Amino acid sequence: MDTVDVLIVGAGPTGLTLACDLARQGVAVRIVDRSPRPGGGGRGFSLKPRSLAALDDLGAAREIATAGFVERRTRFHQGTRRLFELDTPPAPVTVEQPYPNVVALPQWRTEAILRDRLAELGGKVEFGMRVTGLAVGEAESGSRVSGPAGIEVRSGTRAAGPGWSEVSFAGGERIRARFVVGADGGRSTIRRELGVAFTGRTDPDTRAMISDVRLDGLDPAGGVNMWLSPQRGVAVTRPVPGTGVWQVVVSLGPDLPDDEETLQRLLTERTGLAGLRVTEVLWHSVWRYNLRIAERFRAGPVFLAGDAAHVHSPFGGHGMNTGIQDAYNLGWKLGLVVRGLAPEGLLDTYESERMPVARQILADSDQRMGSMMTWRFARPLLGPLLKAGFRRRQRSTRQDHPVYPAGPLIGDGGGAPMPDGSLPTGARLSDLFRGSHFTVLGPEPVTGFDPELVHVHRMAGDYRVVRPDGYLALTAPTVEPVRAYFDRLTAG
Ligand SMILES: Cc1cc2nc3c(=O)[nH]c(=O)nc-3n(C[C@H](O)[C@H](O)[C@H](O)COP(=O)(O)OP(=O)(O)OC[C@H]3O[C@@H](n4cnc5c(N)ncnc54)[C@H](O)[C@@H]3O)c2cc1C
Repeated sequence: MDTVDVLIVGAGPTGLTLACDLARQGVAVRIVDRSPRPGGGGRGFSLKPRSLAALDDLGAAREIATAGFVERRTRFHQGTRRLFELDTPPAPVTVEQPYPNVVALPQWRTEAILRDRLAELGGKVEFGMRVTGLAVGEAESGSRVSGPAGIEVRSGTRAAGPGWSEVSFAGGERIRARFVVGADGGRSTIRRELGVAFTGRTDPDTRAMISDVRLDGLDPAGGVNMWLSPQRGVAVTRPVPGTGVWQVVVSLGPDLPDDEETLQRLLTERTGLAGLRVTEVLWHSVWRYNLRIAERFRAGPVFLAGDAAHVHSPFGGHGMNTGIQDAYNLGWKLGLVVRGLAPEGLLDTYESERMPVARQILADSDQRMGSMMTWRFARPLLGPLLKAGFRRRQRSTRQDHPVYPAGPLIGDGGGAPMPDGSLPTGARLSDLFRGSHFTVLGPEPVTGFDPELVHVHRMAGDYRVVRPDGYLALTAPTVEPVRAYFDRLTAG
């Protein structure tokens, strides 16, 4: 049986980001996916600045920024009548903010870029590997960690050394891993095997058909169009510049089929554009309203990340971004533990940092969805008021940087992303942070740290500790709190 340090189940944006992060640290990692081949359509379309900063660190952001585009025009229609157009010019790129804008790119393309980056780092996705079972063993005791009734969960024993888990596949193959990460989407098999509850609510009647299509009758230069009507429902068209492809979303009543004929009929009814014709459906899927969060993001050596840990409405463009940022939070922690640079206790901070972020995102996406629904029914409301509201929302989406609460990894003055900047040498500050090490910036040289764990640079002002994920961990007037921070980290 093959043994590996980390097994990632699911090669969506979450799993791929994590695989890149671990591969660059030299961690033995395998990433498997049940699909026979890549695919999956446009789905998540927006990469926010914080995700781009993470992908920049992993060496994939430039490619994404080149392939993607900044959506600036959105036209809002009330019924078939044009209400207003929102024109949001791109924010300028500065040294402090190399990625100031939300970059639009279909999810399949983002995934392809991440797979290419993974290949450069020596890894590859193993497609056609469907996980069917999980056995979780613990060091020393060999006790069963969890497992729902009716599902066979083998327990493992080991005299000494780290715990392990054994994952089995539809074809009968098994892989043993020290750590397993379930990045296998909203219907996660890993979550189910762990018996971790996925609490929240589902509204099966709130559905939408999401498709990638070719169509005639709309000019891609016009940008995104949203038609909202209390009687007829919602239609959204979003061009993918230079490809001839559009992402089309139509809300779908409970009894309507999700076929091409229905799509065409709903588009014609809701837009009032007789000349708007779908000429080819390249991919489609049905989205159902789900607002759910896993009650734990970690069970022993098994972690849940991305949609496997939380699902919500697409309003706010959080889905893919949250998964990428989950993976980026977990990647350096797993890497340091596997490489023997930090004790396993560090891994507890994955859940304590990411669960509050996920809860906040669930609330935000729910609130955005609620206000869209209210808007549908508040027809006489003033256009300018709505326009200002949507503009505010767009700006806040750009500045969507989760802040981590005080905890074992966040001390005085820490919690927010460290702003980028330029150095007297001309290099960017973020170049100093690139990699999975901590960075200490301070007025005097500090010695005595393991160079694999901590890089030290002189810089005027207070001492600052920057985490491997670019978050400011601590500011201090003297070096003692810095030393105490790393003493705590390495002592667990
Ligand atoms: C129809 C639809 C439309 C969406 N639209 C938007 C949007 O407009 N904006 C937005 O931000 N987000 C959107 N999302 C959400 C976004 O796509 C997800 O948040 C994002 O894909 C999460 O990434 P992930 O890697 O966590 O999971 P996923 O992308 O779901 O990837 C999970 C992977 O795990 C694999 N897998 C599953 N089970 C197993 C198993 N047993 N064994 C092995 N592999 C397995 C799957 O094949 C899949 O490749 C949409 C989602 C859907 C379904």
